[in-house]
Order: sequence, then structure tokens, then C-alpha cells
Amino acid sequence: MITENIPSIHPHWLTDSRQPLDPEQAANTVFFAINGEHHDGHAFVGELYRKGVRQFVVERSALSPDRRDEFAAYADAQFTEVDSSLTILQRRAAEHRHQFRIPVVGITGSNGKTIVKEWLAQLLADEFVIARSPKSYNSQLGVPLSVHELDAQHTLGIFEAGISRPQEMAALEAIIRPTIGIFTNIGTAHDEGFRTRKQKIAEKLRLFIHADTLIYCVDYADIDEEVRMLLKAVNADVQLVTWSLTGREATYSVEQKDGKLLIGKASDNAGPESYQLPFDDAASVENLIHCLITVKTLTTIGPHSLQNRLNRLRPVSMRLELKEGINNCILIDDSYNNDVAGLQLALRFLNQQNTRQQSVVILSDVLQSGQRDDALYEQVADLMRAGNVTQFVGIGPVVYKNARFFPDGSQFYADTNAFLTDFPFASLRDAAVLVKGARPFSFERIVSRLQRKAHGTVLEINLDALTGNLNYYREKVGAQTKVMVMVKAFAYGSGSAEVAQLLQYHRVDYLAVAYADEGVSLRQNGITLPIMVMNPAPETFAALREYRLEPELFSLKLLREWGQFVERENAGVHALGTALPKTLIHLKIDTGMHRLGFLESELPAVITYLNGLPTLQVATVFSHLVGADESQFNAFSQQQYELFVRCSATLEAGLGYQPTRHLLNSAGIVRFPDYKLDMVRLGIGLYGVEPSRIDKAAVQPVGTLKTTISQIKRVPAGETIGYSRRGLLDHDACIATLAIGYADGYDRRLSNGVGSVWVNGTLCPTVGSICMDMTMIDVTAASAAEGDEVIIFGSDVPITTLADRIGTIPYEILTSVSERVKRVFVKEGN
Ligand SMILES: *Cc1c(COP(=O)(O)O)cnc(C)c1O
Repeated sequence: MITENIPSIHPHWLTDSRQPLDPEQAANTVFFAINGEHHDGHAFVGELYRKGVRQFVVERSALSPDRRDEFAAYADAQFTEVDSSLTILQRRAAEHRHQFRIPVVGITGSNGKTIVKEWLAQLLADEFVIARSPKSYNSQLGVPLSVHELDAQHTLGIFEAGISRPQEMAALEAIIRPTIGIFTNIGTAHDEGFRTRKQKIAEKLRLFIHADTLIYCVDYADIDEEVRMLLKAVNADVQLVTWSLTGREATYSVEQKDGKLLIGKASDNAGPESYQLPFDDAASVENLIHCLITVKTLTTIGPHSLQNRLNRLRPVSMRLELKEGINNCILIDDSYNNDVAGLQLALRFLNQQNTRQQSVVILSDVLQSGQRDDALYEQVADLMRAGNVTQFVGIGPVVYKNARFFPDGSQFYADTNAFLTDFPFASLRDAAVLVKGARPFSFERIVSRLQRKAHGTVLEINLDALTGNLNYYREKVGAQTKVMVMVKAFAYGSGSAEVAQLLQYHRVDYLAVAYADEGVSLRQNGITLPIMVMNPAPETFAALREYRLEPELFSLKLLREWGQFVERENAGVHALGTALPKTLIHLKIDTGMHRLGFLESELPAVITYLNGLPTLQVATVFSHLVGADESQFNAFSQQQYELFVRCSATLEAGLGYQPTRHLLNSAGIVRFPDYKLDMVRLGIGLYGVEPSRIDKAAVQPVGTLKTTISQIKRVPAGETIGYSRRGLLDHDACIATLAIGYADGYDRRLSNGVGSVWVNGTLCPTVGSICMDMTMIDVTAASAAEGDEVIIFGSDVPITTLADRIGTIPYEILTSVSERVKRVFVKEGN
């Protein structure tokens, strides 16, 4: 699948100077300065130069004498002068695409492109390493940037292409060069750029002029006609895989019956396959049929497995985001989708989510609807009435011109800036607010203004610190030693999917979780790294196999159960005469913990069993140190190491091959560098606690648990605070109530002054008992106001201090932060 000549250094492309730039990547970045409608990229060259970027593609027409002087001062930078940066970007993306001989799915059509793409990626995540366009990046600029993400690890690409004018598709075709095409449907959006519907279809079909296969629904008669007349004329060999819900002649006939979908292949006598669909509105059904047929075209996944995957499909959430707004508002952020059908959906969502009295819609001009303005805005105004919208705010000249259709009291602004300056934000209270605008209106600025910043309790995870810690341990063990990262227990409370994604990005060698469902959830979130499951119950064996999770086996009983399971599963494959795949397992040796693991005396039996079942391959063998974090146990640690080395030698001799050996956890990596063997298992150190306390400063805190002050009051000496009158005041005090309690993970043992929190630079003790959802603190010595942020733990209140105060270990503090606390991932340096 993977071709030679793929450059190993994959330069980073930047077209938007506001995008985060990883300082380490700056030197490897090419900035394409585009003189666009809204921004001139050339204005940001200096800023990027100062951030370390040295390669620029610039447009001749933008090079005024002043600019030339400015750029000449950046002597060590390389400037490539071109007529159009966009054209060069597109050409280079096409060259990049050319290096890959993998299947690439190209999707176009009026609706559903993004959903089909996202669902296909979910359905095929187990078979392929997939590159796909982020969100609906389907434009002249978005497509080349997406395709440029393809690299040697990918085995499938899925890209969408959207056009709004004639002649745009040719460029996108050369970049995507799909081997399999999907034409989702044809509607009215963007009609105005085209003379006729036929012209629009013909233009979209250009995406498939080199495709091997095209999938579409023949019920769209004009798509079918144009495919046969136009596409066939230029791509005679294209294989048409068609479907119909109305009994037309097609490769697949599809029927909806009793809540099920029946898909039958005309050329197949076996009768139709039946699927239960997870979503049943007409648009979703159409999208799902496209997905099912594409999966069948690309793979041999059977109906049973396909049904399982369908059951797990998640709605594509990127179009509407629900956020907490200022003044107790909820915010529906739809600053991404701008057609009337989308508006209807968003209004429906607004009504669903709305437990508030008021509902407010902030809407920009609707661009490229293909309808006449008056008809369009009359329809929009009708939708507002039907959706019980209490306040309409229109932004843009066209909606303003059509103000007459909207109820009295509606507000109109010329542009986003005018809205941000003049809108009475304080009047927006206890409302549900839908923000929906076409891209050029930059409604993300409105969302940012309306969004509540620090709300309630959040655990902020600093991804840069996490990366820094990973690098520290990696450097410590050296490039020859592999790293397995423990992401059990919700990645020590930090949020498994996001942390795992970062680790995958940084290419660690292995992940480990405690239970199968943790591994399944990682796979469903797109994690393709090998994953070890430390406590695999027999009920979960099928899931382990389905999701390519590798069990840790720690007893003869469990080993035999797994062996029998694999033999049963393989029996079917055997019959087909295919070579049996190896199943990777991990063996745990008990060298002194006496928790899980094989004793040395059991190894001969393990070897005999494994030699009789060669499809089981021992990927790794490992053991766990009992006291790596404390020097008083050094002698015992050494004893464990020696026993472990002896056991793995016995296994190697008995099996005839050497499994990867690993012993050290975070503390062990620092304390016993000589015991690192072939791999180490990194846990708490990654999450910001250096447990051996030898190299404390090398590791940065990752999590900051924050909350806010709900109320402040003065309470005289002699009064008590909270339950059971435990917090007796010996002074007149200022007492603040915090929006965090033991149910959030703020340990109740920190009550009554045992714990302190950080308020605007002052440590303030707890007063009285910590409650389930609230905590009272004494802020007499601090400057504090209601609504202020309070740090429960983080750089200024170390987790280790908290743990010491209540006689526990940092692990417990980290993993106790309740899942109801929102995790917010921050990346600085952008
Ligand atoms: C959790 C765990 C680790 C990681 O330990 P840390 O002290 O967090 O580094 C390593 N090995 C095993 C078997 C574990 O369960």
C-alpha cells in the first residue's frame, strides 16, 4: 500500500497566520500568503518570521516596494514569488496526492457530504488508518490542506469537495483524485452560480473523471442521466454502483420496511440483507445507505459486524455545538452552516434544548441560497415564527433590506463589528441563543463574546505540559527503549480520548488500560495504537478481538480460556484455508506484588501450553515493582528485577523467541535506569507528578482544578459555618462559598482548614465541612469577589501537598476528580 518516495519530513503548510504554530514546527513550515477577500496574508509574514517560519510563498501583485523592503530584511528566509499562492498550493497538493497508491473516497453532492465522510470514517476505523478532511473543509483552500495531511501511515483517504461556481471542480479533482466516488444528491444550494441544474451536476461529475467506481442513487434521475451521458463519455471504464429506493434498475435495490432497511443486490440470489438503522429521518437514511454501499464496495465486512458498527455510530456533532453562555444563557453555535435546511434543523435543536423563556436567533445574510431575496427572507421570518423565536437579530445588508418581513422589535446590524460594538449584551439573560452565520461574517467572534469563560468547576489539562513530560521520560530512557503509556482510569482522570490522541500523535509505542471497555472507547475515538488490556474478563473476549485489543494474561486458567476462545474463532477461518493471524498476548509475572501474575514455578506449564498453540504470540512479558518510589525498598526492587530477568529468560528459552520485556513504572524510570529493558510503562509522571521525588522539577503539572466563588458574605466571630456547626469562627470573617464539593472530587478530609485553595494569589483555608457540591473558605486575607476563579490544585497548590495533608497518594487525588467536572484541554503558545 505504501509507496516509496514519500518524503519523511512532511513540511507543515500554513495559510492562516492565526492558526496555532508549534514552535518546534516553525522551521519546517511553509506559509502561503494569500491576498484574499477578507485578509491579506502578506501582512502577517513579519509576525511569522519572528515565530521562526523561514519559507514563504508570496504573490507578485501584493509586493509593493515597501513590502519588498520589509521582506528583504528577513535575509535568511526563502521567498517564492508566484502569481497565485492558492494555485501553487493546489498544484503541490496534487503532487503530494500522486505519491499514494491507496484507495481514496471522494464525496460531492449538495447535502450530506460531511456526514457521509464522518460516518464512513467511524465505520471503517478498524480496517484502515484514515486521512480525512477536518469538519467540512471542502473548498478550493480546504481540500489541498486536507489532502496534504496524507502520510505514509494512511491506508485510506476520505475527502469531500464542494463547489459554488463552474470550473472549480477540475482543481479539486486533481488534488483528491478519488478512486471511489460518492455523489450524495443534488439540491438547490448554490444554484445561483450555475445556469442550470444540469450544468451544476455536470460540473460536480468532473470529480470522478478518473475514478474506478462511482456510487450514487438513481432516484435522482438527472444525476443518473448526466452520469450516463457525460461521465461515461470521458471515463468509459468507471464502474457504476447504484441504488434505488423506488424500484428503479440499480445495483442495489433498497427498501424500508418495519423500521428496517433491506438491501438486496440484483445480481445476488441470496436475498436482501436487513439492517436496523440508528437514525431514521430521510436525510440520515440516505446518508447511511451511501455509507453501507461504500463499505460493501471497499471491504468484505459481513452484515453482522456491519450492524454492530451501525449501532455505535454517533451523530456528527460538529455542526451544532451547545455551550454555556454569559448571563445564564445557553448558546448554540452553528457558525458553520448556512442554508435554509440547516436553519430549520438548528431551530429544532434550539427548541429541544430550550428550557428558557427567551429564544434568540442571531443570523447573518444567507449566502448562495439560489432563491430570490424577498422569497428567501419571508421564508426565514416564517421559520422564526414557527420556531417561537422571541428575538431576531439580523446581521448584514441583505437581511436588513428585508427587515419588513420580521416582527417589530427585531434588530439589524450592518456587520459583525457593528453588532459587537452596539448590541446591549446585558439585555441577553436566561435565554437560548442560536448563532448562525455564513463564514465571511466571522460569527466565531460573536460566539466568543457570548460564551461564558470560566464556569463552575473545570479540570484544565495542559497539553503542552503533557507533551513536555512525555519528552522528559522519553529522553530519560533513550530512543532504543519503547514506551507504553498507561491511560487507565480515564487517563488518571485527565480524559482518555484526548490524551490518547495526543499520545498517538507523538507516536508512543503502546497504550494500556485496565478494562476492555476503556480500550473499546479508545478505538471508537480513532486510536489505532496497540492497546494492552490489563484485566480482560472472558465476557469481554469477543470485544477484545473485534477491537484488536491485546489481553494481559496472568493465570493458567485465563490463558486457557483465551486459547480456547481463539481456537473457536479461528475454526471458521481455518476452513477457508487462509493463514491464521497471530494473536498478540502479554504475560504478567508475579515477582513480589502478589496481586496478579504467573509465579516462576508455573512457567513450564505456560510454555507447554503456548507451544501447543502457535497462533498465540507473546508480544511482551512484564512485571511490576512494589516500591519503586521509595529508596527503602531498593533491595527488594533489585530482587524483583533479578527474578523477572530469570523468568523472561526461561520463557525465551521455552518459546524460542524473545518477547519484549518491561518492568519500570514512572518512579522506576527515574530510580532504576539500569532496569529499563526493552520498554517502560509510563503512568503518573506523564500526568505531572514525579513520584520518586528525585527529579521533581523535571515534570510539569498537567491538571489544574478550578472553580468559582458563588457567594461571599461577612460572618461575625462566634458564628459557625456549614453542617454540624463544625466551622467555628474565632474572628470576624469573609466567607466565600465555592462551586465544588466532595462529589466533584474535593476530598472531604480536606475540611476545616486541612486544605487550602488559591484565590488571587492568597492561600485560603477551608472552613467547616466540605459539602457534596459546595465548599466554604475563609477569604478574609484575600482580595476576592463573587465570580472569581479559585484554584483547587495546580502549580500553586501541588497535588502532592493535597495528598500529604490527608495521608493519601497523588494517584487518588487525580483519579477522584469526578466525571461530572468538565475537562478543558488547553494548548498554549499559539
Ligand atoms: C498503573 C500501572 C503503571 C504505571 O504506574 P505509575 O506509577 O503511574 O507510573 C505501570 N504498570 C502497571 C502494571 C500499572 O498498573
